[in-house]
Amino acid sequence: MSGWILAACEELSLLLPHLMGMRVECMEVRDGRVVIEASTPGHVPVPCPGCGAPSGRVHSRYGRHLADARCGGRGVVIELSVRRMFCDNRGCPRVTFAEQMDGLTCRYGRRTPVLQRLLSAR
Ligand SMILES: [Zn+2]
Repeated sequence: MSGWILAACEELSLLLPHLMGMRVECMEVRDGRVVIEASTPGHVPVPCPGCGAPSGRVHSRYGRHLADARCGGRGVVIELSVRRMFCDNRGCPRVTFAEQMDGLTCRYGRRTPVLQRLLSAR
């Protein structure tokens, strides 16, 4: 299956609204879990958390492994490729920063906010 932008696939966006706008490369069952390989859109500028200036200049990409809420009785893992960006504001102490996707990632988090809320509610 080649990649697609989740917004273009309405049925999946009903089940996985926190992946809206992500590029989904692959979705399959491995070892009894649903594994979703996805990446953040490559062309969208993101604000630097240090100064707020938008940056579209990519330093590199790296993989994040996020546990997500169960779906159809199976555990879900999102293998997400995110960007490390340059901050070009010379007055900002940050040289690079990792992009965060609202509703999907948080700094150093290994669970999606959806799963974190479910576990906190127990
Ligand atoms: Zn900055």
